[in-house]
Amino acid sequence: MTRVPFLDLSRHVAALRPELDAALAGVLDDGRFVGGEPVERFEREFAEWLGASHAVGVASGTDAIELALRAVGIQPGDEVITVANTCVPTVAGIERSGASPVLVDADAESMTIDPERLAAALTERTAAIVPVHLYGRCADMDAILGVAAEHGLKVVEDCAQAHGATWRGRAAGTMGDAAAFSFYPTKNVGALGDAGAVVTNDASLAAEVAALRSYGEFERYESARRGSNSRLDTLQAAVLSVGLRHASEWRERRREIAARYAEALAETPLSAPSDPDGGLHAYHLYVVSVPDRDRLREELGTAGVETLVHYPRAIHQHPVYRDLPRSGTLFESERLAATVVSLPLYPELEDSEVELVADAVRAAA
Ligand SMILES: *Cc1c(COP(=O)(O)O)cnc(C)c1O
Repeated sequence: MTRVPFLDLSRHVAALRPELDAALAGVLDDGRFVGGEPVERFEREFAEWLGASHAVGVASGTDAIELALRAVGIQPGDEVITVANTCVPTVAGIERSGASPVLVDADAESMTIDPERLAAALTERTAAIVPVHLYGRCADMDAILGVAAEHGLKVVEDCAQAHGATWRGRAAGTMGDAAAFSFYPTKNVGALGDAGAVVTNDASLAAEVAALRSYGEFERYESARRGSNSRLDTLQAAVLSVGLRHASEWRERRREIAARYAEALAETPLSAPSDPDGGLHAYHLYVVSVPDRDRLREELGTAGVETLVHYPRAIHQHPVYRDLPRSGTLFESERLAATVVSLPLYPELEDSEVELVADAVRAAA
């Protein structure tokens, strides 16, 4: 029986292998493994691809969230509002900046932060909002930027799942004060290990992040702020420049597969994820909410289709985050945690596999 794996990075690497070999060989020949031209080149190319002025490579997406928040001026004791329907690194990054995360519920349709609940979450300690463009769909940035402007809050977009997503013609990562990207291997643009970047249109903010990632040094051997070590490896930067050449075509292939799944879902009672009004979903994950999730997963499994759950717990349902401050109920996030299922969707899926998934979903739902 044909089996459709949820994700198969070996196909991804095989398709890129000659380009990756050349890129890695270039770095090995050069003999410089931290910083250098490949890092600067990738930062330039990534910013350009997004239409932003600056990208600063860091060691992970979690670090990118921390450093972006510190660079926009978040202080220990500040409150940072985010959504309960996200994965742990969003909250880990916020806490590492010294701030206290405050959880707000998700909206049922977009599955991202519910903008109508933002106002009620504000206190005099609120300093920033971290919207998460979860699964590759932008949160309601008009509403979020409106609240932020009205109350003088910073906005750091969590774009770890949103490479290539747009909102009313603007790229995810270019709308807030700064944005955090992850290049974890499974993301829409992935390294061969951990990597991340902070993106911003503000030159002094970019300089701040560049200092924070390297011991707080604006000048070599002169630490002006408390920094740490969160640099982007040269080898990973070279790998990422290879990925970036294909990133737009990968996004289109993801969207083509999503359109095929949406056709199949239209013949079922389930609703398909969709583009936000005036924007493009980047389909990092293809997530459907199904009341009888376990049964659907089992039937798809029997048909050879591997599925996963993103995520089985909302943030406050993790033992360590049970007591995190929250504003209002988090029922929608809890409902999503109990009902969501992710179908296989990656550019290297064969058309025959896409058809197999679509048929299996139609039959099972
Ligand atoms: C992957 C991810 C992160 C963290 O990225 P790492 O590179 O793994 O640290 C943060 N937020 C979201 C929504 C993610 O999916």
